[in-house]
Amino acid sequence: MKRINVTQSSMPPYEEYIEEIKEIWDTKWLTNMGPIHNRFEEQLKEYLKTDTISLFTNGHMALSIALQVLGISGEVITTPFTFASTTHAIVQNGLKPVFCDINENDYTINTDIIESLINEKTTAIVPVHVYGNVCDFEKIEKIAKKHGLKIIYDAAHAFGTEVDGKGIGTFGDISMFSFHATKVFHTIEGGALTYQNHALKKALETYRNFGIKNSDSVISIGTNAKMNEFSAAMGICNLRHLDEEIMKRKAVVKRYRENLSCQKGIRLCEEQKGLRENYAYFPVVFENEQRDAVAERLAAENIFARKYFYPLTCDFQCYNVKCNVPIARWVSDRVLTLPLYADLTQEDVDRICKRILK
Ligand SMILES: *Cc1c(COP(=O)(O)O)cnc(C)c1O
Repeated sequence: MKRINVTQSSMPPYEEYIEEIKEIWDTKWLTNMGPIHNRFEEQLKEYLKTDTISLFTNGHMALSIALQVLGISGEVITTPFTFASTTHAIVQNGLKPVFCDINENDYTINTDIIESLINEKTTAIVPVHVYGNVCDFEKIEKIAKKHGLKIIYDAAHAFGTEVDGKGIGTFGDISMFSFHATKVFHTIEGGALTYQNHALKKALETYRNFGIKNSDSVISIGTNAKMNEFSAAMGICNLRHLDEEIMKRKAVVKRYRENLSCQKGIRLCEEQKGLRENYAYFPVVFENEQRDAVAERLAAENIFARKYFYPLTCDFQCYNVKCNVPIARWVSDRVLTLPLYADLTQEDVDRICKRILK
């Protein structure tokens, strides 16, 4: 039986990619902000409807650099219902993550709780547009303003998402995107930051290249987080086909919803209003605690769903902290992310759902 994974990387036509990287054999310019990198950057600005963007080797380094350049210190309020990267980036920068619970309907950070977690050490909020669901950015903005906090969005799941025609990367101080091979849009490995304050550009881009300002001066203890030309070329090719990919994903999600909505014991994410979605993930919550059994049953048929996000990051062995997040824990214990990619057929979706409902 053919294997169905939770995701499958999108690939541009082979010839297209070869065409795109051809010039590298003439220029011999492989990395360090080459012509393909710069072309790609311009295209992304347009697609994401933002006028400030910097590219990185991956999303994790981008997030880490965002925290450093904004001078975040002390405590950071964030969500444990996310990929390891979000929490790791905070802790790796010597910051203390303070875990806030999530909403029951969209699994983003619960803005009614944030203020109760703020103290004199708090300097930032790091919310996650988890599964591409958009956080309550207006409320977060209000809280941040009132308490003088920075907002850094983990938008790794939300590439191309728009709210009332506005790009998702235009909220907060900085938004991080991941272009990892498993994401809706990818550059093999890669990432980006978008930001409102143009003045950040210099600092972010110096940091990504060892803090080197010019041949005579190094102005910050930076790192190496540059995007190479081959990745940028993959990005240019994938971007060309992205809208079509998203349309195909939309059809898959529609089919899942037709099969699974209003089924007893199964909870789906509420659809958010006024959004241009990217259909990044399809999480299903099994209220009856059948999650593990369902996952096993699917695996027996060579279908691999993922317990995404389980465990919560605050429950990782490496952190060993106590955190009071009952909703996040409830969801994390019951959620399964179903296979979703552009070329998943309607027949496959039906087969997966049939297995689940049995
Ligand atoms: C993928 C991901 C990241 C990290 O991105 P990389 O490009 O893999 O470094 C961060 N946060 C979330 C929520 C992610 O899913």
